[in-house]
Amino acid sequence: MRRTRRNVLMILFVSIISLLSVYLGLYSNYLKDTDEIYSRYATKLERESEALISLYSEWAVQIWETEINTEPVLTLLHNAYNANDEAEKDAYRKELYKLLEPFYANLINHNFRQIHFHEKNNLSFLRMHRPSRYGDDLTGIRYSVESVNQTRKPLSGFEEGRIFNGYRNVFPLEYKGENLGTVEVSFNMSLLINKLEERFYGKAQFIILQSVIDEKVFDEEKSNYIPWQMDSSFLLDKGISESCILENVVEESDKTAIKRILDKELKSNNESFTIHLPGGEGLILSFRAVRNFDKRIVAYIFTRSPDDSIIDLQKSFLIISISFALLFFLLLFFLYYYNKSEKKLEELVIHDQLTGAYSRRIVLEKLKYELERFRRYGGPFSIAMIDIDHFKAVNDEHGHLAGDAVLKEMASLISGKIRTTDIFGRYGGEEFLLILPETDLSMAHQVLDLIRIEVGNFLFSKAGRITISIGVAEVSPEEAEINPLIEAADTNLYKAKNEGRNRVVS
Ligand code: GH3
Ligand code: MG
Ligand code: MG
Repeated sequence: MRRTRRNVLMILFVSIISLLSVYLGLYSNYLKDTDEIYSRYATKLERESEALISLYSEWAVQIWETEINTEPVLTLLHNAYNANDEAEKDAYRKELYKLLEPFYANLINHNFRQIHFHEKNNLSFLRMHRPSRYGDDLTGIRYSVESVNQTRKPLSGFEEGRIFNGYRNVFPLEYKGENLGTVEVSFNMSLLINKLEERFYGKAQFIILQSVIDEKVFDEEKSNYIPWQMDSSFLLDKGISESCILENVVEESDKTAIKRILDKELKSNNESFTIHLPGGEGLILSFRAVRNFDKRIVAYIFTRSPDDSIIDLQKSFLIISISFALLFFLLLFFLYYYNKSEKKLEELVIHDQLTGAYSRRIVLEKLKYELERFRRYGGPFSIAMIDIDHFKAVNDEHGHLAGDAVLKEMASLISGKIRTTDIFGRYGGEEFLLILPETDLSMAHQVLDLIRIEVGNFLFSKAGRITISIGVAEVSPEEAEINPLIEAADTNLYKAKNEGRNRVVS
């Protein structure tokens, strides 16, 4: 029985372990599937934005080549930079503005926001987008301008500026070997955002760090930016602020989640990340870092796309989790009950059901053990066979149930009188076997006589006074076997009965 129990427990244990490992496998699959969806968005955003940026940069090159790097523009710049006084220089500036104005107006319609001329010492010469602001020194403010003035090689990349931010394309200008500083042709981020929206069938937005704006933008130009409701450390470019408004679709709890994630990602300097907003339709926000020439993250572009696939994944994984939890609990439940019923079964084998004393099988097993111990170490011990006197008469007079009650009371009475080391069991019918370790014959006789007297004085609830007869025997080297020892006790019991009952014979 022990062995089958161990086997069943083993099978259950293995099932639970396999169940757990299958579940863990499914869980890692679920994470993988989720990651795959996220990375699909990240990759798409990366590819689309890179493609758009390179397309518009090429366009900027074309603008520079065909509209700016031309004889009339270069001549005006040459004249301005070599003017005799500020008034003359100013006149050339105005002339240049006028020359380019029609073309610039057309360019704005295509979201190219800045055409900006800078002198070779980084002074702003003419901003087509703010002709009234010039002469300010961009050293330390505009890395791209400084760098191209030094290297005389074109440079592209994102950079925040004095008025607007933008994707900059800065080119060196030269007229007959004379250094004419640089010009910048920048497109607005809204160009990128609008095109991304078309490609993602959703919304897109551009957010820039408040700290960057505080550091770089002219005070009177700060109104070009408005706070972003999701996270106060970012601002929106006013020109595209309407493009993607999250306020309406993001719940307050998600708002704090977005803020926390942005904060974390910004610190870990990650290139891209994706957030899933569980709200009604399931939205995926995919962010891509925008770095300036220092490689520092200064802004993000993100897309917002409705996508149920994450929710579907979550739902199916929830169902899997529930099923596994049920299976798991079912197994645990089975384990618990199996253990309990096994214990009960064991209990039935160990103890006699009616009296609670050890069963015949167990008391004989313990006797065998005591005999082995005796054979090995020799310590004395005695046994006693206890039999209720005229028990048949108890049954006849008071009924079988009363007889049962007497057996119960008798067992608890005797077990209450013996030592904890003594072993007391029901040998059969109304006969009990008591093993008294470390007890010689006369000692056993004394103890049992006391028990006999106590029993005789006890008033049994259903049958009044009842007596017992007891046969005692001590183990001896000649009789160190189970049967002769029990026979010896039985013989003495028989003697006690013959001598008139209610006595101990040893
Ligand atoms: P004696 O003094 O010689 O021992 O007489 P006795 O009547 O006790 O002995 P006997 O062996 O003639 O009868 C034993 C009786 O015990 C017979 C049997 O019906 C009864 N008995 C055995 N087991 C149980 C039991 O579990 N419950 C009840 N109520 N009676 C039992
Ligand atoms: Mg009897
Ligand atoms: Mg008997």
